[in-house]
Amino acid sequence: MVNALASSIPKSQIHTSTAITSISGYPSAYTLHSPTSTFGPFTHIIFATPAPVTSKLLATLPSHDPEITASLNTFKYVPSLVITHSDPSFVPTSPSLHRDLHFQRPLTPTAASLQNLTNYTQATHILHHRSPHLRSCKVYQTTNPSRYPRKGSILSQTWFERYIPSLESLKTRREVFGRNGWAQGIDKMWFVGSYIGDGIPLLEGCVESAEMVVAMLLDREDGKAR
Ligand SMILES: Cc1cc2nc3c(=O)[nH]c(=O)nc-3n(C[C@H](O)[C@H](O)[C@H](O)COP(=O)(O)OP(=O)(O)OC[C@H]3O[C@@H](n4cnc5c(N)ncnc54)[C@H](O)[C@@H]3O)c2cc1C
Repeated sequence: MVNALASSIPKSQIHTSTAITSISGYPSAYTLHSPTSTFGPFTHIIFATPAPVTSKLLATLPSHDPEITASLNTFKYVPSLVITHSDPSFVPTSPSLHRDLHFQRPLTPTAASLQNLTNYTQATHILHHRSPHLRSCKVYQTTNPSRYPRKGSILSQTWFERYIPSLESLKTRREVFGRNGWAQGIDKMWFVGSYIGDGIPLLEGCVESAEMVVAMLLDREDGKAR
């Protein structure tokens, strides 16, 4: 999927693992700066970074609108941990009680390194539950665990920052960054990510907001971008 989408973009214009630290220029001639390189000039910028990162990057542009950076700061993120493992003790022993997802709370984290997950709901997904490809193995994905899976059973673990919706941020999303939100497209800058999608902030929100922005951009640029 990624290869198909990227195939029409010249490889020399794709830069991965490149942290952008600042932006200079003005609408229709933006330059992006990393610690070692500059990229541009670009007519449009589509920010696909988490809201707090987008706010910091935008603030480096001398002509930025402080109302947009303040709006981005209403989206609050919290640390989340996802562990993929093969420890069956995270789901009921009886297969008749197995579901796709198993929620457990309240739980007090046992390890010091899990303390910032206090009061979170532990959620375990049985990855092999419906997958014919995984029938022969037992693989679980636990989000926000209160304890670590047993030794030797951990396949991978990732900490990441997850956006937690609030009434204030939902209002901001609708009025500022949603479909026809006043900040979308202003000075040829666009905003996408899970924090802009409807519903629970997950992968679907990234795709939904990206599709929305592409449609708005093409509408706005009709006759030029098409
Ligand atoms: C192990 C794991 C499993 C998951 N499983 C699921 C699942 O099954 N289903 C689901 O819906 N969700 C899942 N999630 C959650 C999902 O990945 C996130 O909700 C989603 O990726 C958030 O998307 P985003 O576009 O808002 O942010 P991100 O995916 O975090 O994208 C932001 C991007 O910005 C880049 N970036 C940050 N700073 C800079 C900078 N200064 N310059 C340039 N680039 C920068 C980052 O490298 C990153 O690529 C999972 C997460 C993890 C960690």
